[in-house]
Amino acid sequence: MKIAGQFTLDDLPDVAPLLCRRSNPPYGATRTWVVEVGSVRFGEGLPVVIAGPCAVETHHQTLAVARAVKRAGGDMLRGGAYKPRTSPHDFQGSGLEGLRVLRGARQETGLPVVTEVMDARRVEQVAEYADMLQIGSRNMQNYPLLAEVGRAGRPVLLKRGMAASLGEWLGAAEYIAQQGNLDIVLCERGIKAFAAGEYSRFILDLNVVFAVRAYTFLPVIVDPSHATGVAAMVEPASRAALEMGSHGLMIEVADFSLGRPQCDAEQAVDAETLDRIVKFAHHRQQCPSGAPAVV
Ligand code: PEP
Ligand code: MN
Repeated sequence: MKIAGQFTLDDLPDVAPLLCRRSNPPYGATRTWVVEVGSVRFGEGLPVVIAGPCAVETHHQTLAVARAVKRAGGDMLRGGAYKPRTSPHDFQGSGLEGLRVLRGARQETGLPVVTEVMDARRVEQVAEYADMLQIGSRNMQNYPLLAEVGRAGRPVLLKRGMAASLGEWLGAAEYIAQQGNLDIVLCERGIKAFAAGEYSRFILDLNVVFAVRAYTFLPVIVDPSHATGVAAMVEPASRAALEMGSHGLMIEVADFSLGRPQCDAEQAVDAETLDRIVKFAHHRQQCPSGAPAVV
Protein backbone atom coordinates (compact mmCIF):
# COMPACT_ATOMS: atom_id res chain seq x y z
CA MET A 1 0.00 0.00 0.00
CA LYS A 2 1.74 3.13 -1.17
CA ILE A 3 0.89 6.67 -2.06
CA ALA A 4 2.69 7.77 -5.19
CA GLY A 5 5.11 4.88 -4.76
CA GLN A 6 6.88 6.49 -1.84
CA PHE A 7 4.99 6.41 1.43
CA THR A 8 3.82 3.18 3.00
CA LEU A 9 1.86 2.38 6.08
CA ASP A 10 2.98 -1.20 6.16
CA ASP A 11 1.84 -2.08 9.66
CA LEU A 12 -1.68 -0.83 9.03
CA PRO A 13 -3.13 -4.25 8.15
CA ASP A 14 -2.01 -5.36 11.64
CA VAL A 15 -3.16 -2.21 13.45
CA ALA A 16 -6.49 -1.76 11.69
CA PRO A 17 -7.34 -4.93 9.74
CA LEU A 18 -11.08 -4.26 9.91
CA LEU A 19 -10.70 -0.87 8.28
CA CYS A 20 -7.81 -0.85 5.88
CA ARG A 21 -8.33 -1.35 2.19
CA ARG A 22 -5.54 -3.85 1.84
CA SER A 23 -7.15 -6.40 4.15
CA ASN A 24 -10.66 -5.76 2.80
CA PRO A 25 -10.38 -6.44 -0.94
CA PRO A 26 -14.09 -5.84 -1.69
CA TYR A 27 -13.47 -2.13 -1.11
CA GLY A 28 -10.66 -2.08 -3.65
CA ALA A 29 -8.88 1.23 -4.08
CA THR A 30 -11.88 3.49 -4.32
CA ARG A 31 -15.06 2.23 -2.64
CA THR A 32 -16.19 4.18 0.43
CA TRP A 33 -18.25 2.78 3.29
CA VAL A 34 -21.33 4.98 3.51
CA VAL A 35 -22.25 6.13 7.02
CA GLU A 36 -25.89 7.10 7.44
CA VAL A 37 -27.16 9.46 10.12
CA GLY A 38 -30.88 9.72 9.54
CA SER A 39 -31.18 10.79 5.93
CA VAL A 40 -27.64 12.20 5.87
CA ARG A 41 -25.08 10.08 4.04
CA PHE A 42 -21.35 10.48 4.55
CA GLY A 43 -19.18 9.10 1.77
CA GLU A 44 -21.66 9.26 -1.06
CA GLY A 45 -23.28 12.09 -2.95
CA LEU A 46 -22.71 15.66 -1.91
CA PRO A 47 -20.33 16.62 0.89
CA VAL A 48 -22.03 16.80 4.28
CA VAL A 49 -21.94 20.10 6.17
CA ILE A 50 -22.23 19.86 9.95
CA ALA A 51 -22.52 23.26 11.62
CA GLY A 52 -23.47 24.78 14.93
CA PRO A 53 -22.13 26.46 18.02
CA CYS A 54 -18.96 25.32 19.73
CA ALA A 55 -20.93 24.80 22.93
CA VAL A 56 -24.56 24.75 23.92
CA GLU A 57 -24.43 27.83 26.11
CA THR A 58 -28.09 28.82 26.29
CA HIS A 59 -31.34 27.57 24.83
CA HIS A 60 -31.83 30.82 22.95
CA GLN A 61 -28.32 30.90 21.44
CA THR A 62 -28.47 27.26 20.35
CA LEU A 63 -31.89 27.63 18.74
CA ALA A 64 -30.83 30.80 16.92
CA VAL A 65 -27.74 29.10 15.50
CA ALA A 66 -29.64 25.91 14.67
CA ARG A 67 -32.15 27.95 12.67
CA ALA A 68 -29.29 29.66 10.83
CA VAL A 69 -27.79 26.27 9.99
CA LYS A 70 -31.15 25.10 8.69
CA ARG A 71 -31.64 28.28 6.62
CA ALA A 72 -28.16 27.91 5.15
CA GLY A 73 -29.00 24.37 4.03
CA GLY A 74 -26.62 22.65 6.45
CA ASP A 75 -27.08 18.91 6.87
CA MET A 76 -26.46 18.38 10.59
CA LEU A 77 -26.28 20.35 13.82
CA ARG A 78 -23.26 20.26 16.13
CA GLY A 79 -22.86 21.66 19.64
CA GLY A 80 -21.04 20.52 22.76
CA ALA A 81 -23.04 19.82 25.90
CA TYR A 82 -19.97 18.33 27.59
CA LYS A 83 -16.91 20.43 26.74
CA PRO A 84 -13.24 19.43 27.07
CA ARG A 85 -11.68 22.72 28.24
CA THR A 86 -8.00 23.32 28.83
CA SER A 87 -8.70 24.99 32.16
CA PRO A 88 -11.05 23.48 34.73
CA HIS A 89 -11.98 27.06 35.61
CA ASP A 90 -13.54 27.64 32.18
CA PHE A 91 -17.16 26.90 31.23
CA GLN A 92 -17.45 23.12 31.09
CA GLY A 93 -20.68 22.89 29.10
CA SER A 94 -24.25 22.61 30.22
CA GLY A 95 -24.41 18.80 30.46
CA LEU A 96 -27.79 17.11 30.50
CA GLU A 97 -29.59 20.43 30.11
CA GLY A 98 -27.52 21.02 26.96
CA LEU A 99 -28.51 17.63 25.58
CA ARG A 100 -32.17 18.57 26.10
CA VAL A 101 -31.62 21.82 24.24
CA LEU A 102 -30.04 19.93 21.35
CA ARG A 103 -32.98 17.56 21.23
CA GLY A 104 -35.34 20.54 21.05
CA ALA A 105 -33.29 22.07 18.23
CA ARG A 106 -33.44 18.80 16.32
CA GLN A 107 -37.20 18.59 16.81
CA GLU A 108 -37.67 22.08 15.46
CA THR A 109 -35.24 21.99 12.55
CA GLY A 110 -35.19 18.30 11.66
CA LEU A 111 -31.39 18.41 11.64
CA PRO A 112 -29.69 15.32 13.09
CA VAL A 113 -27.40 16.17 16.00
CA VAL A 114 -23.81 15.26 16.74
CA THR A 115 -22.38 16.00 20.16
CA GLU A 116 -19.30 15.01 22.10
CA VAL A 117 -19.16 12.34 24.76
CA MET A 118 -16.12 12.56 27.02
CA ASP A 119 -16.81 9.96 29.66
CA ALA A 120 -17.50 6.26 29.15
CA ARG A 121 -20.04 6.46 31.99
CA ARG A 122 -22.10 8.96 30.00
CA VAL A 123 -22.22 7.18 26.64
CA GLU A 124 -25.68 5.77 27.22
CA GLN A 125 -27.02 9.16 28.25
CA VAL A 126 -25.54 11.03 25.29
CA ALA A 127 -26.66 8.30 22.88
CA GLU A 128 -30.21 8.78 24.08
CA TYR A 129 -30.18 12.40 22.88
CA ALA A 130 -27.75 12.45 19.94
CA ASP A 131 -27.92 10.94 16.47
CA MET A 132 -24.14 10.67 16.25
CA LEU A 133 -21.52 10.51 19.01
CA GLN A 134 -18.41 12.65 18.76
CA ILE A 135 -15.08 11.59 20.19
CA GLY A 136 -12.94 14.69 20.65
CA SER A 137 -9.31 15.12 19.83
CA ARG A 138 -8.26 14.86 23.46
CA ASN A 139 -9.98 11.50 23.84
CA MET A 140 -8.95 9.86 20.59
CA GLN A 141 -6.82 7.36 22.50
CA ASN A 142 -9.21 6.80 25.40
CA TYR A 143 -9.63 3.14 24.55
CA PRO A 144 -12.34 2.21 27.09
CA LEU A 145 -14.39 5.19 25.80
CA LEU A 146 -13.89 4.06 22.20
CA ALA A 147 -15.06 0.55 23.05
CA GLU A 148 -18.09 1.95 24.84
CA VAL A 149 -19.17 4.13 21.90
CA GLY A 150 -18.59 1.14 19.66
CA ARG A 151 -21.33 -0.63 21.59
CA ALA A 152 -23.75 2.31 21.76
CA GLY A 153 -25.58 1.64 18.51
CA ARG A 154 -24.88 5.10 17.10
CA PRO A 155 -22.61 6.31 14.31
CA VAL A 156 -19.40 7.88 15.59
CA LEU A 157 -17.47 10.98 14.55
CA LEU A 158 -13.87 10.29 15.51
CA LYS A 159 -11.72 13.39 15.61
CA ARG A 160 -8.00 13.02 15.07
CA GLY A 161 -5.85 13.44 18.15
CA MET A 162 -3.99 16.73 17.81
CA ALA A 163 -0.66 14.91 17.81
CA ALA A 164 -1.78 11.59 16.37
CA SER A 165 -0.24 9.88 13.37
CA LEU A 166 -2.51 8.37 10.75
CA GLY A 167 -1.71 4.89 12.07
CA GLU A 168 -2.70 5.89 15.62
CA TRP A 169 -5.92 7.48 14.36
CA LEU A 170 -6.92 4.41 12.39
CA GLY A 171 -5.94 2.22 15.34
CA ALA A 172 -8.38 4.23 17.45
CA ALA A 173 -11.10 3.73 14.84
CA GLU A 174 -10.35 0.01 14.94
CA TYR A 175 -11.30 -0.06 18.65
CA ILE A 176 -14.77 1.14 17.67
CA ALA A 177 -15.01 -1.21 14.70
CA GLN A 178 -13.98 -4.13 16.89
CA GLN A 179 -17.26 -3.75 18.78
CA GLY A 180 -19.14 -4.39 15.56
CA ASN A 181 -19.73 -0.75 14.67
CA LEU A 182 -18.31 0.29 11.31
CA ASP A 183 -20.31 3.49 11.19
CA ILE A 184 -17.32 5.72 11.80
CA VAL A 185 -16.58 9.07 10.16
CA LEU A 186 -13.05 10.38 10.64
CA CYS A 187 -12.51 14.11 11.21
CA GLU A 188 -9.24 15.96 10.65
CA ARG A 189 -9.14 18.96 13.03
CA GLY A 190 -5.59 20.25 12.83
CA ILE A 191 -2.39 19.03 14.41
CA LYS A 192 0.34 20.38 16.66
CA ALA A 193 3.10 20.81 14.11
CA PHE A 194 6.04 23.09 14.91
CA ALA A 195 4.36 26.35 13.87
CA ALA A 196 1.04 25.65 15.60
CA GLY A 197 -0.02 28.63 17.65
CA GLU A 198 2.10 31.15 15.73
CA TYR A 199 -0.32 32.22 12.97
CA SER A 200 -3.13 29.72 13.47
CA ARG A 201 -4.34 27.56 16.32
CA PHE A 202 -3.29 24.24 14.80
CA ILE A 203 -1.92 23.21 11.41
CA LEU A 204 -4.64 21.94 9.09
CA ASP A 205 -3.26 18.73 7.65
CA LEU A 206 -5.02 18.36 4.32
CA ASN A 207 -2.51 15.80 3.09
CA VAL A 208 -3.95 13.36 5.59
CA VAL A 209 -7.37 13.58 3.92
CA PHE A 210 -5.88 12.20 0.74
CA ALA A 211 -3.97 9.56 2.70
CA VAL A 212 -7.03 8.49 4.74
CA ARG A 213 -8.90 7.85 1.52
CA ALA A 214 -6.00 5.84 0.20
CA TYR A 215 -5.66 3.60 3.25
CA THR A 216 -9.18 3.11 4.56
CA PHE A 217 -12.69 2.93 3.18
CA LEU A 218 -14.13 5.06 5.99
CA PRO A 219 -15.40 8.54 5.07
CA VAL A 220 -13.39 11.52 6.28
CA ILE A 221 -14.40 15.13 6.95
CA VAL A 222 -12.50 18.27 7.95
CA ASP A 223 -13.07 20.73 10.79
CA PRO A 224 -11.44 23.98 9.61
CA SER A 225 -12.71 25.86 12.67
CA HIS A 226 -10.52 24.15 15.27
CA ALA A 227 -7.76 23.52 12.72
CA THR A 228 -7.25 27.22 12.06
CA GLY A 229 -8.80 28.95 15.07
CA VAL A 230 -9.27 31.98 12.82
CA ALA A 231 -12.73 32.82 11.50
CA ALA A 232 -11.37 34.43 8.31
CA MET A 233 -9.52 31.23 7.38
CA VAL A 234 -12.53 28.93 7.77
CA GLU A 235 -14.15 29.56 4.39
CA PRO A 236 -11.04 29.20 2.21
CA ALA A 237 -9.90 26.20 4.26
CA SER A 238 -13.31 24.60 3.69
CA ARG A 239 -12.91 24.91 -0.06
CA ALA A 240 -9.40 23.50 0.10
CA ALA A 241 -10.57 20.56 2.19
CA LEU A 242 -13.22 19.63 -0.35
CA GLU A 243 -10.67 19.87 -3.16
CA MET A 244 -8.50 17.42 -1.27
CA GLY A 245 -11.31 14.86 -1.17
CA SER A 246 -13.02 15.56 2.14
CA HIS A 247 -16.50 14.03 2.39
CA GLY A 248 -17.72 16.93 4.47
CA LEU A 249 -17.04 19.79 6.84
CA MET A 250 -17.66 20.66 10.46
CA ILE A 251 -18.08 24.39 11.00
CA GLU A 252 -18.50 26.43 14.19
CA VAL A 253 -21.06 29.20 13.85
CA ALA A 254 -22.17 32.02 16.15
CA ASP A 255 -24.96 34.57 16.22
CA PHE A 256 -22.97 37.57 17.38
CA SER A 257 -26.11 39.67 17.79
CA LEU A 258 -26.73 37.61 20.94
CA GLY A 259 -23.33 38.47 22.37
CA ARG A 260 -19.92 36.88 22.19
CA PRO A 261 -19.92 33.11 22.81
CA GLN A 262 -17.91 31.95 25.83
CA CYS A 263 -16.33 29.21 23.79
CA ASP A 264 -14.14 29.58 20.67
CA ALA A 265 -15.59 32.94 19.57
CA GLU A 266 -12.49 33.81 17.48
CA GLN A 267 -13.06 30.92 15.12
CA ALA A 268 -16.85 31.10 14.75
CA VAL A 269 -18.21 32.26 11.40
CA ASP A 270 -21.46 34.16 10.97
CA ALA A 271 -24.56 32.93 9.15
CA GLU A 272 -23.64 34.66 5.87
CA THR A 273 -20.29 32.93 5.73
CA LEU A 274 -21.94 29.60 6.51
CA ASP A 275 -24.36 30.21 3.63
CA ARG A 276 -21.46 30.56 1.22
CA ILE A 277 -19.68 27.49 2.58
CA VAL A 278 -22.80 25.33 2.24
CA LYS A 279 -23.45 26.65 -1.26
CA PHE A 280 -19.92 25.83 -2.29
CA ALA A 281 -20.11 22.34 -0.77
CA HIS A 282 -23.51 21.53 -2.21
CA HIS A 283 -22.88 22.84 -5.69
CA ARG A 284 -19.99 20.56 -6.20
CA GLN A 285 -20.12 17.39 -8.15
CA GLN A 286 -20.44 14.25 -6.09
CA CYS A 287 -17.44 13.47 -3.93
CA PRO A 288 -14.55 12.26 -6.07
CA SER A 289 -15.16 8.56 -6.26
CA GLY A 290 -12.36 7.29 -4.14
CA ALA A 291 -8.78 7.03 -3.20
CA PRO A 292 -6.51 8.58 -5.74
CA ALA A 293 -3.08 7.36 -6.71
CA VAL A 294 -2.89 4.26 -4.56
CA VAL A 295 -0.67 1.51 -5.87
C1 PEP B 1 -15.30 20.21 19.24
O1 PEP B 1 -15.46 19.90 18.05
O2 PEP B 1 -16.24 20.60 19.96
C2 PEP B 1 -13.97 20.10 19.85
C3 PEP B 1 -13.79 20.28 21.15
O3 PEP B 1 -12.99 19.84 18.98
P1 PEP B 1 -11.61 19.03 19.20
O4 PEP B 1 -11.94 17.81 19.99
O5 PEP B 1 -11.17 18.74 17.80
O6 PEP B 1 -10.68 19.97 19.91
MN1 MN C 1 -14.91 24.65 19.67
